[in-house]
Amino acid sequence: MLTNRSKVVVNKQMTFMERIYLPAVIGGLITTMKHFFRKKTTIDYPKEKREISENYRGQHVLKVDEKGAERCTACGLCAVSCPAEAITMTAAERKKGEENKYREEKYAAVYEINMLRCIFCGLCEEACPKEAIFLTDRLVPVSGNRDEMIYGKDKLTEKSFNQVDISKRQTPEVLAFKQQKQYQHNK
Ligand code: SF4
Ligand code: SF4
Repeated sequence: MLTNRSKVVVNKQMTFMERIYLPAVIGGLITTMKHFFRKKTTIDYPKEKREISENYRGQHVLKVDEKGAERCTACGLCAVSCPAEAITMTAAERKKGEENKYREEKYAAVYEINMLRCIFCGLCEEACPKEAIFLTDRLVPVSGNRDEMIYGKDKLTEKSFNQVDISKRQTPEVLAFKQQKQYQHNK
């Protein structure tokens, strides 16, 4: 015997009560009944929704500026900072006459986030020098289809007439930091 942890197995015969299983079944039912009268810890989602904290990080939004032009310049910093490698994009050059659609000379022709990979850490938001991507308090709906969980610009980009309020994420401290041009992040 190498250790003292081995147990001696006793081949004890079951009693009559143990063999009919009734006491065990009744015991199980009593436990179940007790839970009927306890306060529920679950909610009836999606009819009911839990209160979430102000800094909850949910579905992303790609922001447009006050004129409705996309802010993203396809620099790729969000993708590089993403620990889950959930972001992919294809950059394109803005053509003449597209200034009202894209704020910068370069824009993301394709921008995708794989919501199955995303861990909602918020690092993409922190890395973005153009304030183009933010996480919001919106929940990402579940799906049984993996392709549906890859969110493209159609799902991510906000509409200029219905902009997502991200003011709670733009605290005075964050705004002050973004004013400081000496940081590479703000150049
Ligand atoms: S929230 Fe985190 S994991 Fe999700 S896309 Fe952004 S950086 Fe990647
Ligand atoms: S970091 Fe910002 S500007 Fe750069 S690609 Fe990502 S969302 Fe676009």
